[in-house]
Amino acid sequence: MGRLRPSRDACRPSTADTALRPELLYPLFAEISRLKGVGPRYAKLIEKTAGPQIVDLLWHLPSGVIDRRPSPKVAEAPDGLIATITVQVLRHQPGSGRRSPYRVVCADDTGEIDLVYFHAKGDWLQNLLPVGQTRVVSGRVEHWNDRPQMAHPEHVVPESEAEAIRTVEPVYPSTDGLPQKTLKRAVEAALTRLPDMPEWINPTILPTHGWPSWGDAVRAVHAPQTPTDIEPDTKARRRLAYDELLSNQLALALVRARMKRQPGHAIRGDGHLREAVITALPFALTNAQRMALVEIEADMAQDSRMLRLLQGDVGSGKTLVALIAMLNAVECGYQASLMAPTEILARQHFATIEPLARAAGIRVEILTGRDKGKGRAAAVGRIAEGTAQLVVGTHALFQEGVEFRNLGLAVIDEQHRFGVHQRMSLGNKGRAVDTLVMTATPIPRTLMMTAYGDLDVSRLTEKPPGRQPIDTRVMPLDRLGEVIDGLARKLDQGIKAYWVCPLVEESDKLEVAAAEERASTLRRRFGDRVGLVHGRMKGPEKDAVMAAFKEGGVDLLVATTVIEVGVDVPAATVMVIEHAERFGLAQLHQLRGRIGRGDQASTCLLLYGNALSETGRARLAVMRETEDGFRIAEEDLRLRGAGEVLGTRQSGLPSFRLADPAAHAELFAMARDDARLLLDKDPELESPRGEAVRVLLYLFERDAAVRYLRGA
Ligand code: ADP
Ligand code: MG
Repeated sequence: MGRLRPSRDACRPSTADTALRPELLYPLFAEISRLKGVGPRYAKLIEKTAGPQIVDLLWHLPSGVIDRRPSPKVAEAPDGLIATITVQVLRHQPGSGRRSPYRVVCADDTGEIDLVYFHAKGDWLQNLLPVGQTRVVSGRVEHWNDRPQMAHPEHVVPESEAEAIRTVEPVYPSTDGLPQKTLKRAVEAALTRLPDMPEWINPTILPTHGWPSWGDAVRAVHAPQTPTDIEPDTKARRRLAYDELLSNQLALALVRARMKRQPGHAIRGDGHLREAVITALPFALTNAQRMALVEIEADMAQDSRMLRLLQGDVGSGKTLVALIAMLNAVECGYQASLMAPTEILARQHFATIEPLARAAGIRVEILTGRDKGKGRAAAVGRIAEGTAQLVVGTHALFQEGVEFRNLGLAVIDEQHRFGVHQRMSLGNKGRAVDTLVMTATPIPRTLMMTAYGDLDVSRLTEKPPGRQPIDTRVMPLDRLGEVIDGLARKLDQGIKAYWVCPLVEESDKLEVAAAEERASTLRRRFGDRVGLVHGRMKGPEKDAVMAAFKEGGVDLLVATTVIEVGVDVPAATVMVIEHAERFGLAQLHQLRGRIGRGDQASTCLLLYGNALSETGRARLAVMRETEDGFRIAEEDLRLRGAGEVLGTRQSGLPSFRLADPAAHAELFAMARDDARLLLDKDPELESPRGEAVRVLLYLFERDAAVRYLRGA
């Protein structure tokens, strides 16, 4: 499993907080270059590999072990073995140029072995391996022309120091130019600085699991004795993972407690607007929608603040739930807002909501980054006066200069980028607005907890009736010709189709180039019926293409992943995804959710490139087998591990250095419960354990959360 990068989340420190760091932690929060024996050149490389501070080295875990204990005689050392051998130095044979290396011929009573050095300095070697002396050398034994040799032994020591090297050594992930030895020495130096930490883990948890103390755990993870010792399920590793999770859950709980402390509005409308809209709908609400509304309305009725997550697959009808909740606020004379992550999506929400709201006599405003000048000023004016009762928009809604007259409910559609609501609510001082966060990503429970903590959740588990299942097929890209022929037949029958171009992780420029090329190939066959959208197009340009796809002459829409969020075109029943193996499963699921929205049967073709790995094959098989987003998410987590799921980097989910959502799943729930229990008993963290927990929060740099204790 790939190591995760240092975590970043809403509760990271600002400079003001770090000043309050407990003194106890000072030795760990110094620059790497302060370590003994680490010069400025290596400090830079270590920083690049592990992170800028000494504490980062503690979290830089070994990725392997080298067992240097085997100590065979020269004649018995098998090829390829890492061995620690005691030899006598017989003679030096300096090399003659590049091709022929410097050799130091040594022997024991069974035979000779050459120590081979490329680009070595003779006097340095004379010093290290004086002729006639006994030395203990450790490295990989190889045979060349039947003669044993060892190239660049990692250790050469006198016999008196043999025991120090005849050990099991950790191997660390490193970077070019940074020798293992140097990195190892730096970690060792960091380990000499471990403070004597107070115990922050619940005293009943520690003995039940047989976990070591913090200091013992840190030392243990850096002293693996066998390859299994570097696995995530050792006691030491689990303890440290738990520490990290506990700090994450405590930080989230503190933020949440503070948000809940702010008085909110008790919103309990008379229902006349909701009635009007629901009766105007051409369909009935699903049971899942009804239940979610019951929960949301109960929260809103409280005078404490609502913080609820509405989780539901693409097409499960979240927007409608949001609209009805917003009307509840409007019935009470409040304004309500709906914020979307992208311009396209904001416009689409507006297009859905506006006619329904208008039917109920409600005025809807839209405000996005694209609105400028007079138009924007007028919209901002209506928002400030309160004549704009419902406001749909992007982040522009929360920019400087936009003031609501009396916002009662904020709905935030996060789609699949998480944590936006946290950042926003942190900056949103004093205003206690009920908040409903919508997410379409069927994120596994464990990961959801890391992003939202103990948030109230409503789930839309049921889709509106009448949806046809999607027929998903997996096939190799080299059958492209057949795919295009099949597509031609479908298009002749009058359907619309998406063609999704490959994701190019490194460069959206290349991604756009690929899409343009594909569009021009398809145009040669299908002419003007082909449209193209990609992320580098200007807003109005994109809108025009989308509109043409929705109701105009475009039947085949070639797109980069910009179509992932948004776009509701029920007539589109075919989707082709090129290089499907490059996408995350959640992303594929999201993309596929664009079809199967009408009452016609739909088909999704997942085309893979020829280098499909075993895991890649299994992942695409999951897509073929199920449309259940929650199952897809769990499978993806199982198959690939957390680092990859959802493209954590873009998702905004916090990532962890020690905790591994796949390996430590049950620790997540434990940490959440523990955090809740502790804060119930000791909300200001004043007990001895509370004091210890403060240290923990600083240790994992969740300092910002500590601020919420001081009645801010
Ligand atoms: P989401 O926002 O969860 O992706 P939407 O709210 O866009 O889903 O709903 C998808 C489609 O389903 C929309 O066209 C919407 O009008 C329709 N829809 C919503 N609720 C129902 C329902 N109860 N019955 C039938 N269709 C519904
Ligand atoms: Mg309320």
